[in-house]
Amino acid sequence: MITANTIAEVRSQVLAWRKEGYSIGLVPTMGYLHEGHASLVDEAVKQCDKVVASVFVNPTQFGPGEDLETYPRDFEHDCRLLEEHGCSMVFHPEVAEMYFEDAATYVEIQSDMPKQLCGKTRPIHFRGVCTVVSKLFNIVCPDKAFFGQKDAQQLAIIRKMVRDLSYGIEIVGCPIIREEDGLAKSSRNTYLSPEERKAALILSKSIFLGQKMAQEGEKDAGRIVEAMIRNIETEPLARIDYVSAVDGITMMPVSSMEGTVLFAMAVYIGKTRLIDNFDYNVNTHLP
Ligand code: AMP
Repeated sequence: MITANTIAEVRSQVLAWRKEGYSIGLVPTMGYLHEGHASLVDEAVKQCDKVVASVFVNPTQFGPGEDLETYPRDFEHDCRLLEEHGCSMVFHPEVAEMYFEDAATYVEIQSDMPKQLCGKTRPIHFRGVCTVVSKLFNIVCPDKAFFGQKDAQQLAIIRKMVRDLSYGIEIVGCPIIREEDGLAKSSRNTYLSPEERKAALILSKSIFLGQKMAQEGEKDAGRIVEAMIRNIETEPLARIDYVSAVDGITMMPVSSMEGTVLFAMAVYIGKTRLIDNFDYNVNTHLP
C-alpha cells in the first residue's frame, strides 16, 4: 500500500492508474479505524480496481468546544487495517496540506437540510464535511466514493452535494456495522468508561425497538419516536440530544410513514455524544 502525504503524490499516482485504465474508489475517514471503516474498504475493493482511503481529522467540521484535539489517532494501526483489506493507497495529509492559512472557500448546502438533526447542535459541521469531501473528490477524482449509513445525514448531504454540483461520482452507501451486543461501531466509543460502555447500549436497544414497531406496521412515526425516547430515558447516564423521524432524502421532519423514513438519534452518554439510526421503507417492507 502506498502512503501519500501530499496532494501532488496522490494526483500523480491516480494519473498513472488512469493511464492503465483502472477504476478508482475513495473511502474518506478520520482514522482510528474499525470494522465499520473496513466494511467500506471491502465494498470499494469489490467495486473498484484501486482503492484510496483518506485518514484526515478535518478541523473545519469541528465546532468550538468539540473534540478536535482529543479525537483518537493511531495511524500505524490504520495502515495495517487498510492494507489487510486491500486498500491501494492511503492519503494522510497534514492540516497545512489541505488548508492554506488564508483558505476562505466553503461548500455549503443553502437549505434547511444541514440544519436538521446533528446540524442543530453542530451548526458548521456539514459545511466542513462538504468542503473537505469536495476537496478529496477534486484531489482523487474517484469513480465511486463509499460512505457509511451510520452517518445517515452526512450520506444524504453528500448525495445532494454531488447532484447539485454535477460531480460525476457514484455515492455508495454501506450498512451500519455493530459490535456483537448491538452498539454501532464508532471511533468515539473509545471515550466511554466501562460503565458508560454498558449504558451506551440504550442507543441500539431503542433503535431495535423502533425498528420492530415499524416492521409490525405502526403508521405513526411520532409514536415510534416517543417510544424510543421513553426507552432511552430509562438509562440514567443517557441525555438525549435528539430523536427524530425525517424524510430519508430531504432530512425534513415527517409524522407519517411514507417513502423512506429515517429514525435518527444523538445521545450523550456522559460527555460522549453518540449517534445511531435506522431507516424504514414502507414499500420494501410490505408483508
Ligand atoms: P469517520 O472516520 O467517523 O469520519 O467515518 C468515516 C466513514 O466511515 C463514514 O462514511 C462513516 O459513516 C463510516 N462509518 C463509521 N462508523 C461506521 C459503522 N459503524 N458502520 C458503517 N460505516 C461506518
